[in-house]
Amino acid sequence: MNHAIRLHEPGGPEMLVWEEVPLPSPKPGEALVRHSAVGLNFIDIYFRTGLYKAPSLPAVIGMEAAGTVEAVGEGVEDLKPGDRVAYAMGPIGAYAEARTIPAKVLVKLPDDIPSETAAAMMLQGLTAQYLLRRTYKLQAGETILVHAAAGGVGLILCQWAKAIGATVIGTVGNEAKAELARAHGCDHVILQGEDLPARVSEITRGARLPVVYDSVGRDTFAASLDCLAPFGLLVSYGNASGPVTGVDLGILAAKGSLFVTRPTLATHTAKREDLLAMAEDLFSVVRSGKVKIKVNQTYALRNAGDAHRDLESRKTTGSSLLIP
Ligand code: NDP
Repeated sequence: MNHAIRLHEPGGPEMLVWEEVPLPSPKPGEALVRHSAVGLNFIDIYFRTGLYKAPSLPAVIGMEAAGTVEAVGEGVEDLKPGDRVAYAMGPIGAYAEARTIPAKVLVKLPDDIPSETAAAMMLQGLTAQYLLRRTYKLQAGETILVHAAAGGVGLILCQWAKAIGATVIGTVGNEAKAELARAHGCDHVILQGEDLPARVSEITRGARLPVVYDSVGRDTFAASLDCLAPFGLLVSYGNASGPVTGVDLGILAAKGSLFVTRPTLATHTAKREDLLAMAEDLFSVVRSGKVKIKVNQTYALRNAGDAHRDLESRKTTGSSLLIP
């Protein structure tokens, strides 16, 4: 018997139903993976609400998990039953006890990376990797702004940016989150609701920033642009407050020939050699102790709806796991 959380139609957390689902044998190029831990991500909320569309319904949602290979299909050479693996991205379907999945999205876990850590960091950590190393190549001595600094991606981003030698300014929703962000590499914390460009200017003694990492979206887009130096880059990589729409490109000229990018992890990991190199970079920064993966919430997978409620209502910090 194989159980999973399925979405029959978009809606609230109550639409996530724990039920029995088929477990197909792996076809050529696929592997069957039994999950030991599933990662909770904000993108799961976008699929649940219908902001992002599942290819068909009902759908098992979820992008990230770690577990053990139980079987492989024809043509899969680099994996065998018993291997510990993890993945982020690829087809949705992670909220399950076990699933079949294209083997090309799986990353074999080194012995010193526990499966729970992998399930908590693959999606958020690979995201931090491409944001800091590929989208904007952050250099020591630069000052950056990170929104939602105490969140899953946020805590990893702050620690990693600090390890690179940057000064990190972070925004958070409350004082407890501010303390957590400070303990994880955030040099200066700004509370949501404060005048963001004015506070940044106060911290930097008038300087504007080369890059802003904004996962909040609609609510922070305009203020984020106002924090940038001429030719600065706004990396708008998420929609926690809603998507950014209807932008007049003229404002980029008016505010100093700014750049805006809206990247996604899926493009960065589309080539297997990139996925493996990015994962190795993540494993090595975690192994070094410079980035610690904080699993601050754990739920039974069957209670995924509770996890969604907490994440959506900004109650969580760091990473969260769903345990099958
Ligand atoms: P987080 O743990 O960061 O949770 C979201 C946080 O956003 C909240 O805790 C809250 O922090 C902040 N927030 C601000 N406004 C709102 C709002 N109106 N509603 C809800 N939350 C709000 O989630 P993840 O680490 O999983 O993801 C972070 C972001 O990164 C998401 O937007 C996600 O879509 C994006 N992402 C994008 C990827 C990409 O490749 N493009 C890949 C991975 C994630 P606070 O209360 O402190 O403000």
